[in-house]
Amino acid sequence: MTPAAQRGIGMTSENTRQRLVSRLRAKGIRDERVLEAIRVTPRHLFVDEALSSRAYEDTALPIGRGQTISQPYVVALMTQAVLGDGRLSKVLEIGTGSGYQAAILSRVADKVFSTERIGELVRLARQRFHSLGMHNIYTRHADGLNGWPTQAPFDAILVTAGGLIPDSLLEQLAVGGVLVAPEQEGRHQRLIRTTRTDKGFEREDLGLVVFVPLLGGLE
Ligand code: SAH
Repeated sequence: MTPAAQRGIGMTSENTRQRLVSRLRAKGIRDERVLEAIRVTPRHLFVDEALSSRAYEDTALPIGRGQTISQPYVVALMTQAVLGDGRLSKVLEIGTGSGYQAAILSRVADKVFSTERIGELVRLARQRFHSLGMHNIYTRHADGLNGWPTQAPFDAILVTAGGLIPDSLLEQLAVGGVLVAPEQEGRHQRLIRTTRTDKGFEREDLGLVVFVPLLGGLE
């Protein structure tokens, strides 16, 4: 891909991206490392070309197979929620989808491991990482609820689909590590941050969110 295509024109240009960053700042995203990652990542290349003019709106968009690319605010919120003071060493994401969240993580972590149950989405995401030169993202076509035991422990785990989190996933966190995941609550979901301490697990509520469901099995 040419650098010009990555920079974008008109509705996908650097100015348009800067406006998105201003909007996220106004909504309460404070971590400059996260805002910078959003500013330099071409979200229009993570959606179908027909939708690229809407890529810098703060909304989720369809990516095919009934799935969505997460809303930029939610991507920023989750990234901010797992970033401590320093850089992350190893991060695990469940639900690669378009690859956008993984691309943002790849700027604030040494290595990003991401799993996705739909093979076609994994293939497309891998092509994007390759053409954008994001060589620290490792993907697997697998049921993410099993985590990635051979790479554990992780400093952070992000679950980008809503459902029940098995204890075995929490066990793949390092002590001091955090997991952020949406949990069903009636008809809504709440984004919960769970921190592993040397004594056990601590939970914090980060507010209401909307995600597609976490499903079992491969497609
Ligand atoms: N992080 C993605 C969001 C994609 S939507 C992005 O930035 O675009 C959530 C994704 O989770 C979907 O692609 C869905 O197929 C996937 N998913 C749902 N259940 C899963 C599971 N058990 N294991 C892995 N991926 C899963």
